[in-house]
Amino acid sequence: MQMVKYLKQYRIPFSGLSAGKHKFDFEIDNKFFDCYEHSIVKKGQLKADVELTKQENMLVVNFHIYGKIQLNCDVCLSDFEAPQDFEERALVKFTEESWENNTEEVIVLAKTDYELDIAALLYEYINVRVPYYSKCTEQGVNLSCDPEMLAKISADVTEQDEENTEEKIDPRWDILKNIKNN
Ligand SMILES: [Zn+2]
Repeated sequence: MQMVKYLKQYRIPFSGLSAGKHKFDFEIDNKFFDCYEHSIVKKGQLKADVELTKQENMLVVNFHIYGKIQLNCDVCLSDFEAPQDFEERALVKFTEESWENNTEEVIVLAKTDYELDIAALLYEYINVRVPYYSKCTEQGVNLSCDPEMLAKISADVTEQDEENTEEKIDPRWDILKNIKNN
């Protein structure tokens, strides 16, 4: 319940707004990501500048999201900060009938709705920025992989390889044993 309360600040009350453009800004920090159990991003410091254009039967919402998120390097396993700066756009349409066909591009609200909850949009926009393969030398700025961690990881891999080699030899010994028994 506490978390749902925290996310209330990401609602834009639009019903009282005049037609035209309106600007809002939001801060997104660790507490925001804490509200989503399955968030890939656990830590970050971002701002979202939101420009909402109110039209008679529609809202056009432009997002400019910038700041940094914390990623974990898949090579050296260190956490690092990855800068972000991107734009997104959402369309909101109103309908009198109940409408179940929300798509990615168009959000459908009832005519009686008076506020737009953008928390889920922000969550999605930021989480899809996480690359499939994170590398501090690629998404970070002026970073290089932690040499101590790399040395440790490569030592572990060599040990594993040696174990694997031993296992691979075993079946051949078994065959030799069988031949001898015959
Ligand atoms: Zn790294």
